[in-house]
Amino acid sequence: MGLKLFNTLSRSVQDFSPLAPPRVGMYCCGPTVYDFAHVGNWRTFVFADLVRRWLEFNQFKVIHVMNITDVEDKIIRAVRETRTSLRNFTGPFEAGFFTDMQTLNCRQPHETPRATERIPDIISLIEKLLERGIAYKAPDASVYFSIEKYRACGCHYGQLLKLNFDEMRSAGRVKSDDYAKESIADFALWKARAPEDGEVFWPSPFGEGRPGWHIECSAMSMKILGASFDLHLGGEDLIFPHHEDEIAQSEAATGRPFVKYWLHAAHLLVEGKKMSKSLGNFFTLRDLLAKGFTGREIRCALLQAHYRESFNFTFDGLQAVRAALARIDECLAKLREISGPPYRGAVGAPDGFTHSALQRFTGSLDDDLNISAAWGEVFKWIAELNRRIAENSLTAPDAAMALTAWQKIDSVLGIGTRPDTDIPSEIVSLLDARQAARKARDFKRSDAIRDELKANGWAIEDTPKGPKLKKI
Ligand SMILES: [Zn+2]
Repeated sequence: MGLKLFNTLSRSVQDFSPLAPPRVGMYCCGPTVYDFAHVGNWRTFVFADLVRRWLEFNQFKVIHVMNITDVEDKIIRAVRETRTSLRNFTGPFEAGFFTDMQTLNCRQPHETPRATERIPDIISLIEKLLERGIAYKAPDASVYFSIEKYRACGCHYGQLLKLNFDEMRSAGRVKSDDYAKESIADFALWKARAPEDGEVFWPSPFGEGRPGWHIECSAMSMKILGASFDLHLGGEDLIFPHHEDEIAQSEAATGRPFVKYWLHAAHLLVEGKKMSKSLGNFFTLRDLLAKGFTGREIRCALLQAHYRESFNFTFDGLQAVRAALARIDECLAKLREISGPPYRGAVGAPDGFTHSALQRFTGSLDDDLNISAAWGEVFKWIAELNRRIAENSLTAPDAAMALTAWQKIDSVLGIGTRPDTDIPSEIVSLLDARQAARKARDFKRSDAIRDELKANGWAIEDTPKGPKLKKI
């Protein structure tokens, strides 16, 4: 059984079959750097990391692209109010985003283009749309995308969600755009320079101004991944109009299908309510760290529910995650004790129950990334390991195999081990070298290695079950 994913485009679960395997082009809408990302944003980014890790676990060569939106209305307003430059204002939030990403142990995207550095790509995409008569310059000197012209070419606007076009117009569903437009559904591709923009503008063949938000993603994703690519991810709040507009702009310009699979993470509630600053339930990652939670705990909490289910993030839930992680850590510590060194990289087939636990774990993730079922399999396996440890029936090779299986599982979950018990691989190698020296009765060398370990901050305790490393 291969990977199946729910594609928002077809509203169904489909077999995942990339355009040019093993390569997988994957684009995830990135942060708008006018503030630190909040826990709701992080649900989407951790989900994107899970998708990436699962594809890499399955030997796909993922090219992960995530844009940085570093120019838009809120940023420009803040630049004006704080009397700083665009870059001075966005720089700290952008750096903070990447630090947070590391704290949550997300794999770094291969490319993270900034909108402000891709203006030529954006301009050439808008030019194509103007040439094809689908974009137009309005009396306010801004350039808009005409939904009417697009539809008149036989193109389908409303691929990701069913739109009743007349109703949508009368309901004014895209009124969030402040700029004048020919019809209510048209959206800005290039916003003409306004006095309040200050120094934030670029020259273009259609006049000074700056790009709209939607066109940024189309331009950057296609420039890096090609006109058609495999996966586009984002939060479900981006389905309309942002992603629908990305499809319209891209397919109008290239005449080719833009993205094969669209994946959307459902929204996140905090303590049962929509997150808002006025309710006091609005948390950035930094707020949660300041409350004493670790990145590992927060990552694990964000990975509890299936991505298509809305998730209720609570402090009770975080405490439960802390307890669950402690159960895993305890079991891993016992496994290390039983297996003895070297407890990394044991080779060979895992014994029956570990093998089938691994199979059920991978089967759950292949089933539209059913992470909650996958966790269920992990904890069933941990319980079985604990049972065997308690009755002394787990052999050293079994324990070593179980640790190897955990490494595989954790390459997907990305929760690692408790920081204070994580032994660097060079220290493990030194310990192995010392064991080899002792076996060869080369006590001079084994003592020298013991001193070296000590100099690195690790003490060896020789126990009947073999040597144990302790942080000094
Ligand atoms: Zn986007």
